[in-house]
Amino acid sequence: MQLQFLGAAETTSGSSYLLSFDQYQVLIDCGMFHGPEELKQRNYGDFPYSPREIDAVILTHAHIDHSGLLPKLVKRGFHGPIYATGVTADLCRVMLADSGHIQETEVERKNRKLRRQGKPLLAPIYTVEDALNTQGQFRRMVYDEEVTVLPGLRLRMRDAGHILGAAIVELWVTENGETSKFVFSGDLGGLDQPIIQDPTFIAEADYLIIESTYGTRLHEKRDERFTHLAQVVNDTLRRGGNLLIPSFAVGRTQDLLYALRVLQDRGDVPPLTVYVDSPLATAATEVYQSHAQVFDYETRSMLREGRSPFEFPGLHYTESVEESIALNSITGGVIIIAGSGMADAGRIKHHLKHNLWRREAGVLLVGYQAVGTLGRRLQDRAEEVRIHGERIRVWASVDTISGFSAHGDQEALMNWLKRFRHIGRVFVTHGEPEACHGFAELIRKELHVPVTVPKLDEVFVLRGKEVRSTWSADLKEVHVEENFAGVFQAAQGAEAELRASYGYANRRYKIKNTFFTAFNLGSARHFFEEAAALRLIERGAVKPGDLDLDSPELGEKLAELTGKRTWEVVREEVLRPAGLSQTAFYYLDHLPARAASGYTYTSSGAEVENVYAILREGLEPQLFSTAHDLHRFWLVLQAGELLNTENRTLLLERYAKPGGWYEVRGTAPGCRVFLAGKLTGGELAILLSNGEEGAESVYQQLLQLKGAPKWQ
Ligand SMILES: [Zn+2]
Ligand SMILES: [Zn+2]
Repeated sequence: MQLQFLGAAETTSGSSYLLSFDQYQVLIDCGMFHGPEELKQRNYGDFPYSPREIDAVILTHAHIDHSGLLPKLVKRGFHGPIYATGVTADLCRVMLADSGHIQETEVERKNRKLRRQGKPLLAPIYTVEDALNTQGQFRRMVYDEEVTVLPGLRLRMRDAGHILGAAIVELWVTENGETSKFVFSGDLGGLDQPIIQDPTFIAEADYLIIESTYGTRLHEKRDERFTHLAQVVNDTLRRGGNLLIPSFAVGRTQDLLYALRVLQDRGDVPPLTVYVDSPLATAATEVYQSHAQVFDYETRSMLREGRSPFEFPGLHYTESVEESIALNSITGGVIIIAGSGMADAGRIKHHLKHNLWRREAGVLLVGYQAVGTLGRRLQDRAEEVRIHGERIRVWASVDTISGFSAHGDQEALMNWLKRFRHIGRVFVTHGEPEACHGFAELIRKELHVPVTVPKLDEVFVLRGKEVRSTWSADLKEVHVEENFAGVFQAAQGAEAELRASYGYANRRYKIKNTFFTAFNLGSARHFFEEAAALRLIERGAVKPGDLDLDSPELGEKLAELTGKRTWEVVREEVLRPAGLSQTAFYYLDHLPARAASGYTYTSSGAEVENVYAILREGLEPQLFSTAHDLHRFWLVLQAGELLNTENRTLLLERYAKPGGWYEVRGTAPGCRVFLAGKLTGGELAILLSNGEEGAESVYQQLLQLKGAPKWQ
């Protein structure tokens, strides 16, 4: 049996686990990645498996970070069943269509720009139509029902108390006559969430895969939360302003409506005028209302008494854009709930634009606000923000209530874990690195069970108590000096055997290096220029005699012959055709957050950042790439996809080392880069560093472990 972590590994998005047993392959969730660009890139391109060969998908719940790539999976040939609760299937109908619509509009906007620039156009990951096409493959389950999915695979879904329809997945997998039990927590709710039931307690798991979004934090308690909400509502209304609440459409919006209904019934707030200005939230609320049988006892009692949280006299659901725009003329006295939850998209931006500058207005943040979003800037008390290109002064008051999350906090997660009678092994997923590792440590300490925090793409072979990562154990023993900052990877063909990242990408802002950090390639850029030259020759765009690969002026010559800048030629001839989406040219004084700053020392021993390199290297943009992309580049070269064999030989012969190895080195102040690989066999070692110390030593160890002869 094998379990591969294709998402939600040291991150909260892209949930997807591939379980292989006998001759079968089953996916648990097929989520979309959010957040940093380098993660989002994983939404594009091919799946790391063949969709046609997947026998079934088991879906924990409808949130896009768990379901978002299902339409793409179906479009690429998956024709098996998708097991989910009936509520999840209904929510997916509206959420996946909405996601398809977002991608169509986003791509259309980008294409308008590309068309004007005469560049190739993009295609959406999937369309509304693709999203609707997945509906036929859903197999609707009810909680606690047990079904046989495949020979040797039984499934039961239990209420996860996260959003309506969310499930904890229990799987019994039989291989070679032995049965192992898997429990995938999916996203787990807290203990006293409105509307939905508390998470079901599970007794046994040989392998437990648990989320850790709030694994190291605690929420406000429900009573405090309601009191806090009443206070914010009353304060804003007393000032005569509007209260704006950016909110996720599914889960959070319904929880808020519930709370507002309860506060009104108790007389803690006056009768309210509330606008839900989000077609998705409206559609999701309708799905909620049609599945009242799975509500918790409290909410079912409210409904019996004729007190629906989703219908009260002052509650309006706006439909059209005109209705939404009309809200802009209301200067005070109403509550507006709209998406997106972090205020970086959707209708809430318009409402913020029309209210932030009013002293009487209020903004209430009820969910996690990621770094870089408008919601986060408001939370951090920015005095001025930019919305649709306009600068808006922030005079409105801004409040945060933390408990409205659909995720249980550390206490709720531990409480759920402690109800198990038997756990063989825990894998901690779905959390930022600090949360995953912090929570893993806590489980180890309190439950005394083996705990693993899997890396993205890591594969585990599971045989009873024996759990072995296929990532090489020797390679995990690489000794890394304390002052090393960078990443390294060892691979065999397309399979990564080890990945690790150390130190800071940016020391001033304490941004850590991750596997997807881009590093300056320094002089290794010449390798890319040579590849570009050979491709121009291969395409017949320039004559072989016009370019001398060994000339130090090759870059200038490329520019001269093509009438373009050298970096444009490299981008068009190498980066684009090889699909290196994480590789780009950046000016050293304008680095994006995902690129590492280089650190070096002056002759007097003072540490300096980038600046020094600018003086040395001039003002040309520098080539930055990730370990992921260098690995890809090597595979593309190996497959003969960028250059034919003859030109590839011309490119590589000057980098040849003993034993069939090739080595490319790059240096610049504050940058050390190594790539060593074989064409036959597929051995590969990559190291990228944004400092100067410790890099050579790690690289030599990687080479030794990969069996390369010494050539220094
Ligand atoms: Zn969720
Ligand atoms: Zn999630």
